[in-house]
Amino acid sequence: MNYYSTNNKELRYSFKEAVIKGLSPDKGLFFPVAIPKLDEQFFRELPWKSIAEIGFEVAKHFVGDDINESDLKKICDEVFNFPIPLVKVEEGVYSLELFHGPTCAFKDVGARFMSRCLSAFAKQNKEEVRILVATSGDTGSAVANGFLGVEGVSVIILYPKGKVSKIQEQQLTTMGQNIKALEVEGTFDDCQALVKTAFADKDLNQKMNLTSANSINIARLLPQSFYYFYALGQLNEKSREVIVSVPSGNYGNLTGGLLAKQMGLPIESFVASANRNKIVPDYLDHGKYEPKASVQTISNAMDVGAPSNFARMMEIYQENHSDIIEDIKGAWFSDDETKEVMKDVYEREAYILDPHGAVGYLGLKKYLNKEKQVGIFLETAHPAKFKETVESVIKKEVSVPKYLLECLKKKKNSRVISKYFDDFKNFLLNE
Ligand SMILES: *Cc1c(COP(=O)(O)O)cnc(C)c1O
Repeated sequence: MNYYSTNNKELRYSFKEAVIKGLSPDKGLFFPVAIPKLDEQFFRELPWKSIAEIGFEVAKHFVGDDINESDLKKICDEVFNFPIPLVKVEEGVYSLELFHGPTCAFKDVGARFMSRCLSAFAKQNKEEVRILVATSGDTGSAVANGFLGVEGVSVIILYPKGKVSKIQEQQLTTMGQNIKALEVEGTFDDCQALVKTAFADKDLNQKMNLTSANSINIARLLPQSFYYFYALGQLNEKSREVIVSVPSGNYGNLTGGLLAKQMGLPIESFVASANRNKIVPDYLDHGKYEPKASVQTISNAMDVGAPSNFARMMEIYQENHSDIIEDIKGAWFSDDETKEVMKDVYEREAYILDPHGAVGYLGLKKYLNKEKQVGIFLETAHPAKFKETVESVIKKEVSVPKYLLECLKKKKNSRVISKYFDDFKNFLLNE
C-alpha cells in the first residue's frame, strides 16, 4: 500500500516512510491511495475473531511488505494484551470500553501499535531511533508507555514543570527502562518548541535518528479502526442498524471508524460528539470549517480548536458536504449537560461514565432511534482518571485500577532543564 500527502496527491510514500516521517515534508497528512474492501468471509467470521486477529487481517492491507506477516501478527498480539469489552448499559445502548490498557485511555491502542512498527523498522535499518514527545500531561504517558521496553527505540518526554497533575507526573516519570522524562522550566508551548527546533537542527539530525510520535502518525490512526470491527462482531446484530457515537477532539478515533466503514463494515452512521469545542459539529451544520482557540472543559482531552484529522475526514469524502452529513451527525454538549448525564446513568443503570464517554453517550442518545437502531458509544478513558470530577457528580468513590495505584507509589525519576534549546541539545548529545 502506498500513501500520499493530503497536500500533494502526486507523491508516493511507502507505509514505512509514512510511519518514520510522521508528517509529510509538505506538512500534509499521509493517506492511503486506496482503502481496501474486505471480503464477505471476514465479516461473517467477525463474531469468532479476537481483536488481535482482526487487527492483523486489517493491517496487512495497509502495511504491505514493509513488515513481514509473522512479525505483523506478533505486533498485533502484543498490542492487544488487554480486553476491549462491549458492555450493555441499557436496552439498545452499548459502551465499547477502550480504557483497559496500561494508561487507562484509548490512546494506548494507537501508541502501542505505532511503537512496535517503529521498532520493526529500527531493526530493519539496524539503527536506534529516538522519539521526542512534548506533552501537556495525558497523551505523553500513553505514547511513552507504548514504547516501554520496545527494542531499538528510546523515548524522551518533555513536560512543563509543575503544570501536570500528580498522577500524570507519576505516569510520566516512573516508567524507567528506555523512557526518560525531562521537566522543562516553561510551558507546554516551550516543550513543543524545543522538540520542533530539535527536528530542524541539522547537526543533531546528522548524529541521531530523531522521530516524533504525534497523533497524526498513520500508525496511530490505523489500529483505531480495528476495534470497530470487533465491536460489531461482539454485537452480532442482524436486524437493526448500528450507529456509533465517538467523543472527539482531534478526530483520530472517529476517522478510524470512517476507515472501517469504507472497508465495508456496516455502520449506518456516526455521531461526532464534542464538548464546547464544536468546530466539527458546526462544520456539519453549515459546511464551513472554522478553527478556533480551544476552550477548557471537564472532558479536557477533547479541548481541541483545530482538529488535526479534519483533513483526512475531507479526504475520505472528497470534501463533499452532503455525503459527509449522510454518514456523520454532529452533536455538542456543555459541562453541565455532561455532569447531569453522568449522574443520571449512574443512578439509573449503575454505570459510571467518565466525562468523555458521557459526551459520547449524550451524542448517541440524541440520534438513536431504538425501533430500528442499536447504538454503541466509545468510552475513551477510565473514570478513575478523572476521579475528582466523577466523584463530585456521582457522590460515590471511584476505585482506582491497581496498576495506577502502584504507579503513585513509585519513585519519580526526571531531570530538570531550562526552556532554552542549547540546554536540550546538550542533553541529547551527551546522553
Ligand atoms: C484523545 C482523547 C479523546 C479524543 O480522541 P481524538 O481521536 O483526538 O478525537 C477522547 N477521549 C479521551 C479520553 C482522549 O484521551
